[in-house]
Amino acid sequence: MYALSVLPGVADSARLTEVPEPDESEGAILASTLAVGVCGTDREILAGEYGSAPPGHDRLILGHESLAEVIEAPPNSEVRAGDLIVGIVRRPDPLPCAACSVGEWDMCRNGGYTEHGIKQLHGFCAQRFRVDENACVRIDASLRDTGVLLEPTSVVAKAWDHIERIGKRSQSWRARRVLITGAGPIGLLAALMASQQDLELHVYDHNAKGLKPELVKRLGGTYHSGSVEDACSIAADVIIECTGAAPVIGAVIARSAAAGIVCLTGLSSGAHRVPIDLNELNRSMVLENDVVFGTVNANRAHYVSAAAALARADQDWLRALITRRVPIHEWARAIEHQPDDIKVVIDFTLT
Ligand code: BGC
Repeated sequence: MYALSVLPGVADSARLTEVPEPDESEGAILASTLAVGVCGTDREILAGEYGSAPPGHDRLILGHESLAEVIEAPPNSEVRAGDLIVGIVRRPDPLPCAACSVGEWDMCRNGGYTEHGIKQLHGFCAQRFRVDENACVRIDASLRDTGVLLEPTSVVAKAWDHIERIGKRSQSWRARRVLITGAGPIGLLAALMASQQDLELHVYDHNAKGLKPELVKRLGGTYHSGSVEDACSIAADVIIECTGAAPVIGAVIARSAAAGIVCLTGLSSGAHRVPIDLNELNRSMVLENDVVFGTVNANRAHYVSAAAALARADQDWLRALITRRVPIHEWARAIEHQPDDIKVVIDFTLT
């Protein structure tokens, strides 16, 4: 079978090559890959800036946003041949730490976790892969076109879960108005989950044109472009920051409503440096009981709630989020950035 792999740490080393069939030791479920999503983390790995190969291997098979059809599964498993599954990206630290030992690998404390397609475990960008039942989630057959969005949605489901938990520090606090900065896949999926909670939705993105304003409108939200400071003037109870851009982060962290929660989901590239008056920031955070927190990855419960959110969503809206589908043999086209891209997917069913 063929797989797309890189030499971690080496820029432009991606190759589509023949590799052995997945070994039974990798899991009792054998699945045929339908689609793999491409995200910023993949681009960092392709640029040689991130990622590591499994011990004893030079190359790392890419791909952590998966959708696959089960070919064979053990008779006692809840998963059957023909079911759709998505692989869970992170696996617990083998030691394990206090968080990993209770299934909260997304909160791993010692950094000993592994991640498919990212850190020491091969990814899903291969014709077939194997996983154990505890390392994948079965999804509804209605998500055949859109289930590849489950992994980024799981990241968003975790963000919302933690926002709710933090909100519970006050009996009276309720999220009413949410601002999402960045209308990429994470931002738009966060907006989808806000719309499913009937919150007043605002989305900020520097793009004034294209599909993004339309997608936000279809969720019943208000789209803001132009100055992020102006967008922040709505005094949101919750701000979900999805750009990772320092000027945007700098603008949002001090501008939530009193008792507001700012959730950081984007990774910064370091391209911009922003001076911050920490005295001022500290004063406003203390006097208003503000919270700023970061979140990464997701555990099984988040994948399950994300799958429910996708199944409830308008499938046409979700399909529109996938702006390009590229056959695996043309994988290089999936990596290149085009202006109207939202989510680009490598589609194994296309030739
Ligand atoms: C993935 C996460 C992962 C993170 C850090 C993200 O792109 O969605 O699952 O934990 O990268 O490696």
